[in-house]
Amino acid sequence: RKGTAIITGASSGLGLATAKALAETGKWHVIMACRDFLKASRAAKAAGMDKGSYTIVHLDLASLDSVRQFVKNVRQLEMPVDVVVCNAAVYQPTAKEPSYTADGFEMSVGVNHLGHFLLARELLEDLKASDYPSKRLIIVGSITGNTNTLAGNVPPKANLGDLRGLAGGLNGVGSSVMIDGGEFDGAKAYKDSKVCNMLTMQEFHRRFHEETGITFASLYPGCIATTGLFREHIPLFRLLFPPFQKYITKGYVSEDEAGKRLAQVVSDPSLTKSGVYWSWNKNSASFENQLSEEASDVEKAKKLWDISEKLVGFP
Ligand code: NDP
Repeated sequence: RKGTAIITGASSGLGLATAKALAETGKWHVIMACRDFLKASRAAKAAGMDKGSYTIVHLDLASLDSVRQFVKNVRQLEMPVDVVVCNAAVYQPTAKEPSYTADGFEMSVGVNHLGHFLLARELLEDLKASDYPSKRLIIVGSITGNTNTLAGNVPPKANLGDLRGLAGGLNGVGSSVMIDGGEFDGAKAYKDSKVCNMLTMQEFHRRFHEETGITFASLYPGCIATTGLFREHIPLFRLLFPPFQKYITKGYVSEDEAGKRLAQVVSDPSLTKSGVYWSWNKNSASFENQLSEEASDVEKAKKLWDISEKLVGFP
């Protein structure tokens, strides 16, 4: 049978390119989990995706109720859940003030980490129930959260500290809006959220891989300088960032190429190892990359897991 893959944020950028790459193989049905139904439907059509190859289901990661409703809706489709890809993200590098999710969490960590944490936690049951030979849960990471790289050392650097802001509810009311308890910084909040994504993937691996056989993975697909991720950046940045990545750092990848890379992590029979953070070299060959000290900190991953379960009300 065809595999079924859920992809969050499949209405643009990497998520859309991955949905298209998978659908084109004829071996996958894609559930596009998107906050803007109309945008997703136009994007799928414009990408030339075959009508029968996808189903759009509404998901707003900035609301835990929406995440729970999404899980219910997916179950009603009575399709198996074979692969889940946590891809959606917001990036607010120029925001002067924090914004908040429906549940009152700072937006970047609320959407990128907490929304996905609840989603992945809920859908673990569905993945367990699937009879697909290679079941996977993939959380998109980033080089920017990894302080063992050049890109990860551009200030403000990711740093979760002792997680005091997160433990306080990340709501700016009696607690900080930043995980480490510091002052609001939108660029740092994004990087912190990506560290959470990578820690979460590894904690899933430690807790559930042996018991379930599910592959848990993260990846850095390369710098896709043209996506909507940079939509809130200043115009000069948006003009210069793609050529800078193409010709200076040479870290640039097209949306198509990045989509093919993520599609490999979804379906390639050689990428079944669990607990891995995948990257690609200059010849577009995948390799197991090293995470920074913080992004591979076992104690921090456990603490993050416990606090996150409390904040999202799971179980
Ligand atoms: P895009 O902005 O193009 O895509 C982000 C997607 O997330 C969009 O589909 C957006 O929906 C969706 N989204 C945002 N907020 C929510 C929400 N509250 N609920 C549901 N969906 C939401 O950026 P990219 O494609 O670049 O980003 C995809 C992933 O790749 C992210 O995890 C990012 O961190 C990662 N990444 C990107 C890199 C890059 O260079 N671009 C490098 C490394 C990692 P909508 O279309 O409605 O806005």
